[in-house]
Amino acid sequence: MKYAIIIPDGAADEPLPELDGKTPLEAAHTPNMDRVAMEGRQGLVRTVPEGFESGSDVATMCLLGYDPKVYHTGRAPLEAAARNIPLSATDWVFRCNLVTVADGIMKDHSAGGITDAEAARLIHDLARTVNAPGFEFYTGVSYRNLLVYRGGQDFAVTTKPPHEIPDERAEKYLPRGTGAALLREIIEASAALFEKHEINQTRLQVGRNPATQVWLWGQGHAPAMPKFKERFGVTSGCMITGVDLLRGLAVLLGWQVQEVEGMTSFHDTNYVGQGQVTADMIDKYDLVFSHIEAPDEASHQADWKTKVAAIEHIDQYVVGPVLEKLQTFPEWRLLVMPDHPTNVGTRKHGYAPAPFAMAGTRVRSLLRAPYNERNAAAADLKIEHGHELMEYFLRGGNL
Ligand SMILES: [Zn+2]
Repeated sequence: MKYAIIIPDGAADEPLPELDGKTPLEAAHTPNMDRVAMEGRQGLVRTVPEGFESGSDVATMCLLGYDPKVYHTGRAPLEAAARNIPLSATDWVFRCNLVTVADGIMKDHSAGGITDAEAARLIHDLARTVNAPGFEFYTGVSYRNLLVYRGGQDFAVTTKPPHEIPDERAEKYLPRGTGAALLREIIEASAALFEKHEINQTRLQVGRNPATQVWLWGQGHAPAMPKFKERFGVTSGCMITGVDLLRGLAVLLGWQVQEVEGMTSFHDTNYVGQGQVTADMIDKYDLVFSHIEAPDEASHQADWKTKVAAIEHIDQYVVGPVLEKLQTFPEWRLLVMPDHPTNVGTRKHGYAPAPFAMAGTRVRSLLRAPYNERNAAAADLKIEHGHELMEYFLRGGNL
């Protein structure tokens, strides 16, 4: 049996006035996704359990068959896994964003999309000068750095993702709780060091947002997740994604991570290449998971045109070739779904259940209607605990 899972991140949405009351999924021309839904079935699945913030860390873990209530320890530990940073059971890892705070207001969670080289210099200088025993800084892509703590302090802190507090007073959301003082000291030290830093002076001169300080959030211990093979009996898996978070999940699941040339998290990504590589990997692995970030990013920009185009590209260049490839095997199954909705209207992740479509061997057709939110809701197939979807899919919709 060959399995493929295709995730158009954030593709689900609400009806939009710009699209005459249609959602982007309804407006987009998606013959391949429609075929999956019509020859197989579609339904709704809740991928963000109550009490969790909607995001790909929670939602993807859930649809992979792991209950976030049991396994989700934070976003930073997943990114640490992606970068193969070793963590013992007592180590802590924090996301260490470079951000722009001006007059006390959170202006930019990404410090103007600061370059890797600029970020590395700031982080290295901070690591060299700050007095923070037990802490280790790890530079990453652009503003996304990590801070690991291997000391004796235990943390019980509340933190806030900086992208969720745009134009709000930053101070209100500084870490609080047990151990927060240590974190605030690092944040304060970064603000003092970065204020006159050469990198920021140059950035200001060319009209870019400076990195005024670091922002610590998303903390946790390494999650103890059983490997996918042990949990579901599928021998080999492969992850294709442009996003560190999902690379990290793949590492924790015991899957291989396959890169694609020109793959990005935006609409400029190499859709054709990703479709080809995904199809090729089906020869090599029993399960291939292919994730495309572009619809999510377009939604955050409130760019419904690009969102519709991204969905159409995924349909044509990824779902199409993968469907064709799967049919060359005697037994196969395909699942297509966004991890969570991202709403163009609010530019934020939504909490509505995600529409899914699946087809393949022994998946009996339920309702012959094209794939979209409305038809998925009408199909009367709703999986309330999202982590049960994987078992359902692997068994061909026969629980
Ligand atoms: Zn998003």
